[in-house]
Amino acid sequence: MAEQTQKQKTRKCSNPDCKKQVAENSKYFPFCSDRCRTMDLAKWRDESYMISRTIEEDDLEEDV
Ligand SMILES: [Zn+2]
Repeated sequence: MAEQTQKQKTRKCSNPDCKKQVAENSKYFPFCSDRCRTMDLAKWRDESYMISRTIEEDDLEEDV
Protein backbone atom coordinates (compact mmCIF):
# COMPACT_ATOMS: atom_id res chain seq x y z
CA MET A 1 0.00 0.00 0.00
CA ALA A 2 1.65 3.21 -1.17
CA GLU A 3 1.22 6.28 0.95
CA GLN A 4 -0.52 9.25 -0.53
CA THR A 5 1.79 12.17 -1.14
CA GLN A 6 -1.02 14.66 -0.89
CA LYS A 7 -0.99 16.99 2.08
CA GLN A 8 -4.73 16.81 2.49
CA LYS A 9 -6.71 13.64 2.20
CA THR A 10 -9.75 14.03 0.04
CA ARG A 11 -12.73 11.91 -0.71
CA LYS A 12 -15.74 12.20 -2.93
CA CYS A 13 -18.51 14.49 -1.81
CA SER A 14 -21.23 12.58 0.03
CA ASN A 15 -23.79 13.99 -2.31
CA PRO A 16 -24.14 11.18 -4.91
CA ASP A 17 -25.02 13.71 -7.56
CA CYS A 18 -21.80 15.64 -6.97
CA LYS A 19 -18.46 14.54 -8.39
CA LYS A 20 -16.31 16.98 -6.45
CA GLN A 21 -13.60 16.01 -3.99
CA VAL A 22 -13.73 17.29 -0.45
CA ALA A 23 -10.87 17.59 2.01
CA GLU A 24 -11.33 15.59 5.20
CA ASN A 25 -10.71 18.68 7.29
CA SER A 26 -13.25 20.67 5.34
CA LYS A 27 -15.79 22.68 7.24
CA TYR A 28 -18.53 20.94 5.30
CA PHE A 29 -17.05 17.41 5.29
CA PRO A 30 -18.24 14.94 4.11
CA PHE A 31 -19.76 17.40 1.68
CA CYS A 32 -17.83 19.75 -0.60
CA SER A 33 -19.99 22.73 0.24
CA ASP A 34 -22.86 24.00 2.29
CA ARG A 35 -25.01 23.68 -0.80
CA CYS A 36 -24.38 19.94 -1.13
CA ARG A 37 -24.99 19.39 2.56
CA THR A 38 -28.30 21.23 2.38
CA MET A 39 -29.32 19.33 -0.73
CA ASP A 40 -28.55 16.00 0.90
CA LEU A 41 -30.46 16.86 4.05
CA ALA A 42 -33.40 17.99 1.95
CA LYS A 43 -33.31 14.72 0.04
CA TRP A 44 -33.43 12.63 3.21
CA ARG A 45 -36.23 14.77 4.54
CA ASP A 46 -38.20 14.24 1.33
CA GLU A 47 -37.66 10.47 1.41
CA SER A 48 -38.80 10.08 4.99
CA TYR A 49 -41.74 12.30 4.16
CA MET A 50 -42.70 10.01 1.29
CA ILE A 51 -42.37 6.86 3.40
CA SER A 52 -44.48 8.22 6.23
CA ARG A 53 -46.94 9.78 3.83
CA THR A 54 -50.32 8.09 3.82
CA ILE A 55 -51.59 6.85 0.51
CA GLU A 56 -54.13 9.18 -0.95
CA GLU A 57 -57.35 7.94 -2.43
CA ASP A 58 -56.35 9.15 -5.87
CA ASP A 59 -53.28 6.91 -5.79
CA LEU A 60 -55.39 3.86 -4.91
CA GLU A 61 -57.78 4.52 -7.75
CA GLU A 62 -54.94 4.55 -10.25
CA ASP A 63 -53.55 1.27 -8.97
CA VAL A 64 -56.76 -0.70 -9.24
ZN1 LIG B 1 -20.57 18.28 -3.42
